[in-house]
Amino acid sequence: MSKIQMKTPLVEMDGDEMTRILWQQIKDELLLPYIDLKTEYYDLGLPNREATRDQVTVDSANATKKYGVAVKCATITPNAQRMEEYHLSRMWKSPNGTIRAILDGTVFRTPIIVKGIEPLVRNWERPITIARHAFGDIYSATEFRVTCPGKAELVFTAEDGTETRQTIREFTEPGVLQGQFNLDRSIASFAHACFRFAVGSKQHLLFCAKDTISKQYDQQFKNIFDELFESTYRTEFEKLGISYRYMLIDSAVARVIQSKGGFIWACKNYDGDVMSDMLSAAVGSLAMMTSVLVSPDGNYEFEAAHGTVTDLYYAYQRGEQVSANPMATLFAWAGALAKRGELDDLPELTAFAEKLKKAAIDTIESGVMTGDLVSLWSGEIPARKVTGLEFLQAVRTRL
Ligand code: NAP
Ligand code: MG
Repeated sequence: MSKIQMKTPLVEMDGDEMTRILWQQIKDELLLPYIDLKTEYYDLGLPNREATRDQVTVDSANATKKYGVAVKCATITPNAQRMEEYHLSRMWKSPNGTIRAILDGTVFRTPIIVKGIEPLVRNWERPITIARHAFGDIYSATEFRVTCPGKAELVFTAEDGTETRQTIREFTEPGVLQGQFNLDRSIASFAHACFRFAVGSKQHLLFCAKDTISKQYDQQFKNIFDELFESTYRTEFEKLGISYRYMLIDSAVARVIQSKGGFIWACKNYDGDVMSDMLSAAVGSLAMMTSVLVSPDGNYEFEAAHGTVTDLYYAYQRGEQVSANPMATLFAWAGALAKRGELDDLPELTAFAEKLKKAAIDTIESGVMTGDLVSLWSGEIPARKVTGLEFLQAVRTRL
């Protein structure tokens, strides 16, 4: 069999710990034998971020802007303990944060649905994709602890010096204060990313906020979504038979739980943070959740939604047989290859990526799976627990 040829390289962002091991195994077992794999390699493993003073992360994000498609391995976000473990000169920032700031995107997270591993919410028949606005709100808020009586005001000083003031609260007792913001530009790029993703995946789109309470702030999100839908997307949505709806976040939560799934749920930053963890818990395992960052200018960065699985990595280093689940990382590769195939008009590459995903799902449905899934398994055939590598080999046999 001749290998599938590629035209444009993928931006390959290698990472840390157990996922770094899985990364190489996925390439060796399932990609290199079948594809003439072209990548531009960036080592985002913590030792190389230290050696390059984190320049490698910035370079990899810029390369994504150049080539349009990246695939990223999970990486360590250093904390005090990691500073010691890796002898770091600085507590480098979260690579995901750096990459998101450069690409300015929206994160889409979708569970991988497999027969025999049923979601806890029984009526969910199709996956629900969360689209999280990854900019502003409480994540870049300014906070203040009020300890004595006084007056809190919201003051805006325009460039020409004019001031606008509003009283927030006359404090007579201790309390807390917070100031948060967002930008029309970022909200619009979030909305565009959601509409385009809905069109690309032919799914309904639901956006929710709390405009009844937040009459300026959340109202602005709602308005921008409404305006862009009317001006740019309505015709395309109608042609595809898909819909856009705005809902209050609390009614949306009830609706989502009662739904059959199969739509995109666009959430503000905090709602998306919370709801994506609820979704992955309801689906069973973090390793069964895919994640892609879509930038407003049409760049894609595919990754797993989980971290570097540190506990299993330490066990692996002690020489133990570990059963880390490579599904989300494999799906990140498959997503990136499929997108590359689509952009470069290489249908055989896209078809290969689809076959890879199907072989992986079929492998689990045949009862072969990693340890995290065994306890969730409700299939008729007894589950056989395998290591991550054995799982990939079983996928290869099936492929
Ligand atoms: P984690 O690596 O996602 O692991 C959390 C737990 O989820 C694990 O202990 C394991 O549960 C389970 N799990 C996750 N992925 C799994 C897989 N592929 N196979 C089997 N089980 C899996 O998160 P963490 O322990 O909070 O963080 C570890 C490191 O990852 C940290 O240094 C953090 O900075 C980094 N991180 C990176 C990213 C990213 O790059 N996107 C995201 C999150 C965290 P059991 O304990 O039940 O085995
Ligand atoms: Mg979170």
